Amino acid sequence: MIKLLTGNEAIAQGALEAGVDVVTGYPGTPSTEVMLNLMAKRKELGIHMEWSVNEKVAFEIAAGAAWVGKRALVTMKMSGLNVAADSISAIAYSGCTGGLVIFVADDPGTSAGMVEQDSRYYAKSMIIPTLDLASQQECLDYMKIAFEISENIKGPVMLRSTTDIAHVASLVDINGQTERDTKKREAHFERNIPKYTKAASAWCMAQHQDALNRLTHALETIESKNYNKKYRINEIHFEPESKYGVIYGGAVQGNFLEVLNRYNIKISRLKIGMVHPLPESLIKEFLENKNIERILILEELDPIIESEIYRIAFLLNKKVEILGKLNNTLPYTGSYSFVLIKKALEILLESEFNGQNKDKEKLQPVLEEAQDLIVARPTSFCSGCPHRGTYYALNTAIKNLKYKKDDIIVHGDIGCTILGMNKPFESCWTEVAMGASIGMAQGFKWGGIEKPVIAAIGDSTFFHAGIPPLINAVHQNANVCIIILDNWWTAMTGFEENPGTIYLKDTDTRRVNLVNICQGCGVEKIDIIDPYEPKKAIKVLEEAIKYPGVSVVVSRQECALQAHRRKVNLPKYRVDIEKCTGCQICLNQLACPEMVFHPKTEDHKAYMEISVDCFGCGLCQYTCPFGAIEVIEDGK
Ligand code: SF4
Ligand code: SF4
Repeated sequence: MIKLLTGNEAIAQGALEAGVDVVTGYPGTPSTEVMLNLMAKRKELGIHMEWSVNEKVAFEIAAGAAWVGKRALVTMKMSGLNVAADSISAIAYSGCTGGLVIFVADDPGTSAGMVEQDSRYYAKSMIIPTLDLASQQECLDYMKIAFEISENIKGPVMLRSTTDIAHVASLVDINGQTERDTKKREAHFERNIPKYTKAASAWCMAQHQDALNRLTHALETIESKNYNKKYRINEIHFEPESKYGVIYGGAVQGNFLEVLNRYNIKISRLKIGMVHPLPESLIKEFLENKNIERILILEELDPIIESEIYRIAFLLNKKVEILGKLNNTLPYTGSYSFVLIKKALEILLESEFNGQNKDKEKLQPVLEEAQDLIVARPTSFCSGCPHRGTYYALNTAIKNLKYKKDDIIVHGDIGCTILGMNKPFESCWTEVAMGASIGMAQGFKWGGIEKPVIAAIGDSTFFHAGIPPLINAVHQNANVCIIILDNWWTAMTGFEENPGTIYLKDTDTRRVNLVNICQGCGVEKIDIIDPYEPKKAIKVLEEAIKYPGVSVVVSRQECALQAHRRKVNLPKYRVDIEKCTGCQICLNQLACPEMVFHPKTEDHKAYMEISVDCFGCGLCQYTCPFGAIEVIEDGK
């Protein structure tokens, strides 16, 4: 059956067809939708799936399931791989019994912010066989292959995707059957101390050698099972008359083949689907072809394949001109567009392709029209977002304590909460990594910042990586104020559950109380505020900022979009135009998207209007000095 699927949907489908038994993950663009798609079927499939508290825990749970013989999948974005790396590396050395697949999505072009990290380095450093996805069909096929390789070599296998594969849809041939129905895998674990512990150096060295052996075995598995024939994981195509060649891997495949097709270019090529270990014999065969004199290496981010091509060409003593990043033909950053790949091929072939100018002429008016349609819109909190109230209260508290805005450093963290760096709040100064705000705040204090230092962190981020630095702050008696913006969901990535989520239908999960955790960590000053009640919130924050030690303020109110979905009904607000002076204080302080300012005209004075989509948080009423904003009592 042919279906239009995004890469992430195809990954989920591949996992189902592979008969996965346990799935875990932590949300992070561009990987989130794999789990979202699987979670939607969690009840129906009756298998264990969970959004774990962080990627390290997610991996450990998946690895545990694979150690007892099940097929387990863990999903994460590239930054999550850093978090999980400690455990992945240890388990990659030990190996596993069942199939264990680590799905990681990199983000060339940083569509979702964060670092442009190339996870293929981890494949090398952790000694994990890795398949690099080049199409949506491969997402489905390679997931199944990855489980087979993993079971065959008895070690984890990594599937690496990128944004242009994960979020783009194309037609995918799906099977619809699941291996789970035919293969019942019994849970079983055999005691094997030298394999499953690191308690003796001889065992560790043996595990290291085993991991290296698994790499060779993975490549042999691909060849022996004849995957290359069916799935074209690593594939050579020689063009007899051409002295030019391209070696490529990953998401560049789509645009590369499109350029060849559109300009009818005949060129030798080597596609690399297994990026670790590289198919060295195929690379040698390609380089040794007597016709090939000049090659281009196409891969996004770092020159990982390219560096190896230099090494192999050197060992072969092959005189070949290599174009890529190392000779500045291609950039290290960003995703590779059609235009960029076309330009690189023109450099390789030392000619301009026919039709270039025609294309430009056709495209120009469309680009200009698209440019006109772009609206300059600052990134802002949603209508009714409780974080708006928290940052409003924080800024007011700082002002009431007679500090200037630039006196007080607020470390922001990952997630919606970092939007507090934008106008009109401009509260947050930094953003580093999950949970880092609390550690960074301590460093600023010990580094000598005398004025108060604040960390602002969301609930999911706190559960993920904020607890150890909080314990550290208590232990060291650091003078920091920590605000946990608790909106009950992992909202930024798509409203996934976290341990603090209030309402979990169809699951047996339990809510974990943030305040109890803080108490358990030894925090002595803990307050809870409602960001929709600024008057009280400001007073509490003033005291917390002044407190000489670790203070925690939990600002608690559900994400407005989730509350709206759960049909939480709050009274709506409107502006009494008679009382409104058009001063715009409400708009300037809150920037709520539901406020519409009408400037003075000949027919009417300047005034503010509140749209019918008002969520009803009530913050604007608090900010209006003229009492012009009122509740619509009957809700209409
Ligand atoms: S509603 Fe109040 S604060 Fe907003 S513009 Fe009118 S008078 Fe000013
Ligand atoms: S218009 Fe006022 S009450 Fe309505 S969502 Fe915006 S700030 Fe809240």
